[in-house]
Amino acid sequence: MGSSMLLKPLREEVLDANLDLVRRGLVMYTFGNVSGIARAEGLVAIKPSGVPYEKMAVADIVITDLDGRVVEGTLRPSVDLATHLVLYRAFPAIGGVVHTHSRHATVWAQAGREIPCFGTTHADYFRGAVPVTAPLAAADIEGDYERNTGEAILRRFAGLDPAEFSAVLVHGHGPFGWGRSASAAAHTAVILEELARMAAETLAINPAATPISEAQRDLHFLRKHGPNARYGQKLG
Ligand SMILES: [Zn+2]
Repeated sequence: MGSSMLLKPLREEVLDANLDLVRRGLVMYTFGNVSGIARAEGLVAIKPSGVPYEKMAVADIVITDLDGRVVEGTLRPSVDLATHLVLYRAFPAIGGVVHTHSRHATVWAQAGREIPCFGTTHADYFRGAVPVTAPLAAADIEGDYERNTGEAILRRFAGLDPAEFSAVLVHGHGPFGWGRSASAAAHTAVILEELARMAAETLAINPAATPISEAQRDLHFLRKHGPNARYGQKLG
């Protein structure tokens, strides 16, 4: 492929975002995957299936179109590609998708419970509880499982803004998240894992703990996100 490699900067970012999951302790063996999208080209760069992270190279990242057809790459894409594609088609503002089985977020997914917004750490990233999907029906599992996982996420997001909730727990499975880019999506996965752990420990200390007020939640969320954000440095 050499210098003719398609979307090399995006491939490099996707590789680095996948390695970020390893650096942050979110994945074991070949678990987990991050992708990124080039909207102008309508092409997605995603981790290959079953390749150990320590051996993964830029050329191993698989480029597909939005229908999942491999455009460039000799390896098979992650089996979760179809879920990523459903999210890219439905949420036009996102530029990266992540999926892990990170322990604490997955524990909440297995419990079938949304993660309550117990404090401002959570509210800095999510405008309320991290949602959980309904369990998948037998027909969804026996059919196009990965695509139907994406559809279950979309059903849960009816009335929810993916800019206000950048992750979801798939019931009995684990978290999917997203962001403006592949690296932002990986960041979401890291933050979600920490929030999941903090929420479980909050309930361990006080099983009657309740979410913070909407006023405090919104102050924290809106000062970092949205049109009136005033946290950090202005870009550009
Ligand atoms: Zn999974």
